[in-house]
Amino acid sequence: MGVLDFPGDLVPLDKDQQGKLRTFLHPAQLLLVCLNHICPRGPPQKPSEPPPDHSQSPEEMFHTFVNKIAQVLNFDTNGDTVTALAVILHNGITTYVFASNNRSKVPLNNARKALSEILNILKLNLEASFKEPDHVIERRLMVKILWWNKVRLRAYLNTLSKELQTCMDRCDTSTPEGTAAKDSLSVMASTLPDPSKKTEEYIQGAVPCIQSIQASRNTPLRRYISARSAEDHNMAKGGSWSNLQHVAGRLLSYQYAVEVLVHAHHTWADTDLFRNFEIESVRSSTPYKGVPSESLLNPVPETAEMVLHRAPGTSKRREALKGHAKDLEKYNLGGSLQSLWAAQVEKGMRPIVHAEILLHSWLLATEGDVQRARFFQGWQYIGMSKPPCRMCTEYFANVITTPVRFRAGHPNTYLNWRLPDLYVDGRQRGREEREKEARIKWCEDLGKMKGRVFAAVERALEEKVAEWKRWDSNTYTSRVESVNGDVELLAGWLGGVGL
Ligand SMILES: [Zn+2]
Repeated sequence: MGVLDFPGDLVPLDKDQQGKLRTFLHPAQLLLVCLNHICPRGPPQKPSEPPPDHSQSPEEMFHTFVNKIAQVLNFDTNGDTVTALAVILHNGITTYVFASNNRSKVPLNNARKALSEILNILKLNLEASFKEPDHVIERRLMVKILWWNKVRLRAYLNTLSKELQTCMDRCDTSTPEGTAAKDSLSVMASTLPDPSKKTEEYIQGAVPCIQSIQASRNTPLRRYISARSAEDHNMAKGGSWSNLQHVAGRLLSYQYAVEVLVHAHHTWADTDLFRNFEIESVRSSTPYKGVPSESLLNPVPETAEMVLHRAPGTSKRREALKGHAKDLEKYNLGGSLQSLWAAQVEKGMRPIVHAEILLHSWLLATEGDVQRARFFQGWQYIGMSKPPCRMCTEYFANVITTPVRFRAGHPNTYLNWRLPDLYVDGRQRGREEREKEARIKWCEDLGKMKGRVFAAVERALEEKVAEWKRWDSNTYTSRVESVNGDVELLAGWLGGVGL
């Protein structure tokens, strides 16, 4: 066990590569993020996570299993950790290998320890002569998972407590449905653990609360919450119902995780998956060393017109895009881009290789790469703690060709994204030539990414223009929406508990 590195030496970014990022990729990304901010009707509601589906094919079930493992390992408190995980044959042994964003050595070691403790509960049960019933194993796993996720758990339960109170006050008790909902919410509130308790006792108290959320599935209460939550989105009423629905979903997902894990240990009881395994992690990507932020992003904000002037395609297309951008001055596109750009300059451009690309490129760089034979049961899959971002989705779908599959992506674009780093083995002859080839490939990939980002900018421009033409100017106000979704919401909760 140790932190895995890439074989070979890192090839640093040269001036030409930096120039390409500064001229093409980052300005287009900023414009895209800005267009996604300018949202007149709020984001669509996220569908709730469905319960485990035991009619899935074994391969689909395995996908769910690795996604759940990645999720429960994602317990850091900084809110922006994302974990990618695969089960592969490494040095001839079935190995869980994962990569995370922004985890130094100690948090990576902790995550390995957590996974080892979780998997050992299942291993011990398989090896025991007396098999415990599922509900006993589920509870044991739940307590273990909640212990590792204890900071998030407290943040979720604090939010749940607050939103339950607000929602009880907002139930329309002039209707029988509203009265019944208020009663049910009050029953749920009575299961909340006492926040003054120490961790162990607090976790024991959290289990019945999660069970009460589970019991509320498919009940009139759940339908009442869903309906009010949809109103939150349409009418911007403060979001308590949607926050309640969201946080209840996050808590319930721990229950789903233990159910998936217990089911998996029955399904693959006779394999090495839970009996004979190793756990490894890949060193997290860090921002470029020795590359100042101003080499990656112009310190003077550019206008949408300047950015669009570099869009690929014909000059006719560029003029059409600029025309759309002009139309969107109604939304203050220029001002929004300028302030987002200035904020980014202030923050500094510090792109990293996102966890799924990091893990994928580590697999490519090591023996067996992404061939079928390297993966558990030949299932070429990388699980994720959350859906991949738009940049990663574009990279896997349209920039490189890979047999590896991932979760469906989400439409958010992050500015801290970069292509995988280049490594060249220094011990062999012809190193210079290989370095040159690697840079050429990088430039090709960057060119493709640029094309995809500009295509997304074009779609966003066209959609937004169509949108405002459809709506009378009095029926909407320009709203700035969170682009980080969960991350910001979670950061807010964590902030609220004084961490
Ligand atoms: Zn990503």
